[in-house]
Amino acid sequence: MEKKILLIGTGGTIASEMSGDGLAPELTAKELLRFVPRIASFCAVDCVQPFSLDSTNMRPENWLAIAAAIRRHYDDYDGFVVTHGTDTMAYTAAALSYLIQRSPKPIVLTGAQKPIWFDSTDSKRNLTDAFLYACRGCGGVQIVFNGKVILGTRARKTFSKSFKAFSSVNYPDLAVLQDEHLLQFIRNEDVDGPLFWDTLDPNVGLLKLIPGMDGAVADYMLRRYDGLVIESFGVGGLPEYGGFYDAVAQAAGQGKVVVMTTQVPNEGSDLTVYRVGGRLKRDLRLLEAYDMTTESAVAKLMWILGQTRDFPAVQRLFYTPVAMDILHPQA
Ligand code: ASP
Repeated sequence: MEKKILLIGTGGTIASEMSGDGLAPELTAKELLRFVPRIASFCAVDCVQPFSLDSTNMRPENWLAIAAAIRRHYDDYDGFVVTHGTDTMAYTAAALSYLIQRSPKPIVLTGAQKPIWFDSTDSKRNLTDAFLYACRGCGGVQIVFNGKVILGTRARKTFSKSFKAFSSVNYPDLAVLQDEHLLQFIRNEDVDGPLFWDTLDPNVGLLKLIPGMDGAVADYMLRRYDGLVIESFGVGGLPEYGGFYDAVAQAAGQGKVVVMTTQVPNEGSDLTVYRVGGRLKRDLRLLEAYDMTTESAVAKLMWILGQTRDFPAVQRLFYTPVAMDILHPQA
């Protein structure tokens, strides 16, 4: 039987037109489909358009709106395609992975580096592949882009211009699509849901350390936010100058949640290796992201703090894998 897919348009380059100041999203989901008539030959599509944004302008409330659209229509469709700007797509994919868990139906994000009306565009291929995966692929949240299928909790934008915009971090690609053939390497077996959530705590910050940074910056952010992800160096640690340790100790004592991670793109953190990290890990009430992406660490913290501030519960939720977001054996 023909599959029914819901297309959720949210803007991005794929839907952009040239404005006086540069590209800006204009085309609706329905208009996008007209550029790729092939899609109507293998599935039935309905469209919704909760908003139309350059993804630079997206906020956690937009992630909730996408999740709500999927929840509202979940029983009526076999799969979901979300067209989205590439710039913050990895954050949205991570957030949706926490807001909609164990989905037996595919939830596929896609977009493009060039608008759909450009002569040389990746839009048509990405859109076609996304629909093919929504019809034939596995449940759960994933990004389909440039012929690759990447788990929503593992995606990162690693190229700002070329078609190969996304990489899977610390986890293999799930599948590839070649000439409309799907080669599924890894099957998502966690599909006994769906489970939906509709709250996030958006008051979570991210601090990237640089050598010589003033610890007062960390102190300010720890006061400003309920949870702070700190992207430190290497396998992880805090400078021993500048009052970083005391700032984190004080914040942790006040119930703030700190997650230590690394700005190194691959292989993740291990705070126990060096004194700059070991002391933190031993003495302070903080968490470590291990092999998670920063995007997933941020979204997971928002999801958890939307439910509880009780540290043992926060810790248990953070280290419980969701959609293969964390694999480290010590987590
Ligand atoms: N600035 C655009 C966006 O994220 C870039 C893109 O879609 O590729 O909406």
